[in-house]
Formats: sequence, structure tokens, C-alpha cells
Amino acid sequence: MRVCLTGLVLACMGLPATAAGLSPIEAGLDYHSFANVDQFRVTHIELDLRVDLEGKVISGVVALEFKRLDPRATQLVLDTKDLMINDVSQKATDVLGATAKNQTIWVSRPFHMEKPDPILGSALVIDLPPSRKTVESIRVDYETLPTAAALQWLTPKQTAGHKAFLYTQSEPIGARTWIPLQDTPQVRATYSAKIHTSSGVLAVMSAENDSKVKRKGEFSFVMPQAIPSYLIALAVGELEFKETGPRTGVYAEKSMIKAAAKEFADTESMIAAAEKLFGPYRWTRYDILVLGPSFPVAGMENPRLSFITPTVIAGDKSLVSVIAHELAHSWAGNLVTQATWRDLWLNEGLADYLESRIMNAVYGEQRASMEAVLGLKSLREDLAKLKPQDQVLAIDLRDRDPELAFSTVPYEKGRLFLSYLDAKFGRDRFDAFLRGYFDHFAFKSITTEQFNQYLTENLLDRFPGIVTHEQVLAWENAPGIPADAVLPVSSALLQVDDARTAWLAGKLQPKKFGLDWAAQQWLYFLDNMPAALSAKQLEGLDQAYGLTRSQNAEIERSWLELAVRNNYQASYARLEEYLKTIGRRKLIAPLYVELMKTPSGSEFAKRVYTKARPGYSLDTVTAIDAIVSPAAAEESE
Ligand SMILES: [Zn+2]
Repeated sequence: MRVCLTGLVLACMGLPATAAGLSPIEAGLDYHSFANVDQFRVTHIELDLRVDLEGKVISGVVALEFKRLDPRATQLVLDTKDLMINDVSQKATDVLGATAKNQTIWVSRPFHMEKPDPILGSALVIDLPPSRKTVESIRVDYETLPTAAALQWLTPKQTAGHKAFLYTQSEPIGARTWIPLQDTPQVRATYSAKIHTSSGVLAVMSAENDSKVKRKGEFSFVMPQAIPSYLIALAVGELEFKETGPRTGVYAEKSMIKAAAKEFADTESMIAAAEKLFGPYRWTRYDILVLGPSFPVAGMENPRLSFITPTVIAGDKSLVSVIAHELAHSWAGNLVTQATWRDLWLNEGLADYLESRIMNAVYGEQRASMEAVLGLKSLREDLAKLKPQDQVLAIDLRDRDPELAFSTVPYEKGRLFLSYLDAKFGRDRFDAFLRGYFDHFAFKSITTEQFNQYLTENLLDRFPGIVTHEQVLAWENAPGIPADAVLPVSSALLQVDDARTAWLAGKLQPKKFGLDWAAQQWLYFLDNMPAALSAKQLEGLDQAYGLTRSQNAEIERSWLELAVRNNYQASYARLEEYLKTIGRRKLIAPLYVELMKTPSGSEFAKRVYTKARPGYSLDTVTAIDAIVSPAAAEESE
């Protein structure tokens, strides 16, 4: 199945699935949207929605303001997936001309849904009469279905405060499961919203939030900056707010709010550091919403309000690079956005590079380089598993779920590419280039090719003889890590290698090392162990450092992986609890993979997964289903 955006949407929907693989990829064409963006562009989205936490339904109306780029076009095509469309109407003034003053009358328009595609959903095709107006509006009356992938409904049992909770995760193409719209990152729109809830709960969005608003069941939001659809976000639940700085604060459930505010106290310093390097922060406020442990990813860069997993709250700020990363998206991704999912590395690679620079500025070079080395290790692990065509930055995702682009490649290989340019051209030139890049493309969505053109004009050609255009293309389109990459090194981690070697040889006893180690050093120590350790060795480490009871979710994941690989039963009760409470894929997927390697482990995995599965998000369920019951996952495809 492939998608055209050229006005031939319906004609090209019938092409066989193999056709896409044969033709060259068209840069800037979004293969994951039905929207005919060459003909119509949505510029403003107005939501009026009721969130029913008990019934797990969102229902209401979206009004879309749009421009007709092609005056001959009479069919507006929107993206939807698992949505029930009740009615489509158009402003009477748009159809008939003038009506009674101060009165908006809406008249129904004919529409139909195209046959659904399993990944992309259904095109909603709306017939429109010809019009000469510059801006028109249509309204869609709709409700969501229980299968909506972007909506995570938590039952009272699944939250700390025992109150029902909703959060959205629109990236990559989930926005269409709760709003009918042009669901492609190349369309940017402002939005406003009225959200109706039961009383007592708080609604927050990726928009201007009023932390002091009365909880009377009605909330208004304005997002004055034009953003792509995957950044529209909503959460509703029993939330508290605590300020952490002049333009920063934390939203979380009551039991979590103090710890969260303490953990993320440096956010204002991070913003100041980033502004010094990359230009002004253009989103007024930066707040953090701490979700429940079922949140499937580390963080989501929803503008003005990052959504963050509680698993980064370790008590010692050791995992706050996630905050630096989501904040970095305020420049890389939210301000200058990828035009299609093929260009994801422009969001994630740049954000990872900026993250390193922010961490360096706020916590020092040692911390940033340790994190870069750990990132390189996970990149190498992914490269060992990925097909060559999926090891490239500008990835071909035609006929595939864009979710597949989210390996470490766009992140870590992207970070390496930008670090390479930084090293080759020198810090001053490269920083000036980045500041210029963010200014030049501010509030625009761009392709890899547009990035390359800007790079050529402002670095490659301005300082000739340093990096060639071919070298750039090799980074973007060739598999693996280029031979001339500038790899991160960390002396603090080399010291850990020495300690590990000595301990394995029996020459260094526990407690004689590691007492002053940073979390990154522990991760490096544990993640680089040989395949087999003795029960005595594991027991020795566990007794000395209390690893089974670690409060650091990353170190715990690393330790539990070792425990499973070596059948260290003393950690299995903790392992069960860990798998049942945490839904973040990066943390739990490796544990299920390790468990499934032995008959007793797979029995344990299946038993625990049955209990844990209802608490996971749909994306996590899909990922873990494929690990724990591969046969069942294949059947359902
Ligand atoms: Zn990111």
C-alpha cells in the first residue's frame, strides 16, 4: 500500500504493495498520510472535546481552518484511524456567501471513508463546493474507539492516586486516532481547544497551560505557534503542579510531585545553557508532565510540556539526560521539523547532539562523554541486528509502520554525524552554523535534501576541502558507522574496564571499587560483563551494592538482565515486580528477550506477562507480544 499526496490519492491507493520498493523514493512525499497537502493546507485546528475517563471515549468536534492551494480541488482528504465520524459540515458563509450577522451556520457536507489500511487507517474524503475564499472551515463531529493507538486510558488501579487517567502519544502517526486531520509533519497548524471532563481532575495540553485553573470540568487551551500534528498532546487526571524555576515546573500525581520537582530542579539551567548555544527558547514555558510507569517511551517532546517517564527519577539526577533530550527538541524537531518520517534523524540525531552539549554545559564533560559512549554501545547492538537498508539515516519506510524508524540509528548515528561535523569544522564554525540553521528554518518542516543544501552552502562550500558532499551522503545513505567517524571516548569508563577485569580475575573484591561511581559507570560495568557469571560472583556484587534493590531503573534493568542470563533466582521476585510495574519498552523488552531464551525463563515470562499486559500501552503490547508469543504475533499480521 502506498500513498500519494499529489491529488491522485484515490487512484494510487490500488497499487500493489511491491510497487513502492521498485521506484526511487520521492523526497518530501509523506508515504504515511492520505492528506492531499498540495491542494489543501490546514492552518488552524479548533477542538471541542469531552473526555470520558470512565467510558474511555473522547467525543466532540474539530473545526479545521484551511487554505485551498489548488482552486480546482473539490475533495479534502483527511487522515483517520479507528475513528467514528458522525457528521461533516462546512461554514454556511463558505458555501453560500453572506448569512445573518454574527451567526455561524454549519451545513452538512457529503463525505465517505476509504477502505482502511492496517497501518495508515482510513482516508476521510470530504466533497467541497468550489470556493474563492482564502480561508475556509470545515467541522467534523466524531468519537474515538477503544482501539485508538494514541490514547492510553489508565484505570484507577493503574495510577498511584487511584483515579482514572488519560494521556496521548501522537508520535508518529497516532494523532489521526483521536483527531481527524492532515496527519503529516509537513503541515503545521496552530490550535485551540476546549476540553470537558468530570470535575476534580486537571487537563493539560502541549499548549499554554494555566497551572492554577479551577478544576470544574472545563479547560481552555491556546497553542499560538504552528506545530506538526504529532506534537498535539493531552493528558487528564488527578495532577498537582510545582514550580521549579521562572519558566519551568512539574505536573505529576501527588505521590510523585516532590521527588519529580527535586529531580528536575536543573531544568532552568538547561534552558539557559541551550539558549547560549543555539539561540532563544521560543516556546515561553517549559513544563514537565511526569506520567505513570506504563508510559512506553522515555519522554515525548510535546511543546511547552514534555511528557516524561517516572523511571528517570532516580533520586540523584543521574538520568536527567532525558530532560536535556526533550528540551533539545525545542530547537531540533519542534522548531525545525522533519518533513516526513524518512527524515526522522533530523529530529532525533540533532536532539541527541544538542542533548550532549547541554549535558556538557550543565554537568560537565565527563558525564556527557560517558553518555555518548553508552549511546554508541547501544547503536552497535542495534546495527548488529538491523538489515543494511535500516542502518541508514534517511530510511525508506514505504509500506512500513513509521514506528520501525525508531531504532537507535536516527538517534545515535545522527549524534555521531553531527559530532563528526563539529570535530571537522571546529566548534565555533559549527555552532554558528547550527544557530543559523535554527533561525533559517524556524517553524518550518524540512527534508534531508533541504538540510543538505543548507549544509553545503553554509559549511561545506564556505570552508572547502574539509568534508565532501559524498561523505555527507555516505553518512545518510550507507549502512554501518563510517570509517572516519569521530568516536566518543571516556576515561571514567576506561577505569571501569580495569575494575571489571580485575574483579573477574578475582584480584579485586567488591566494595574495593565502585563506591563513588556515577550511574553511567555502573551501567557500563554491568552491561559489558561476559556471558556467564557464577552464582557466587553475582551474590558477591548483590550483597556489596544492593543491586536487586537499586532505585535506578536503568541500573536495575542492566542487573536484572545479568540475573536472568545466569539464572540468579534471588532477583526474580524483583524482576516480576519490575515487569509488572514498568511499561517503558527500552527497559522491559531486553528482559523478556533474555527470559525467552530458556524453557524455564519463557514459562516465567509468559506467566508474568499475562498479569502485566493489561497495564502496558498498546505499542508496548505489540512489541512484547512479538517477543513472548512470536507465533501469535505472526498470525495476527
Ligand atoms: Zn527525541
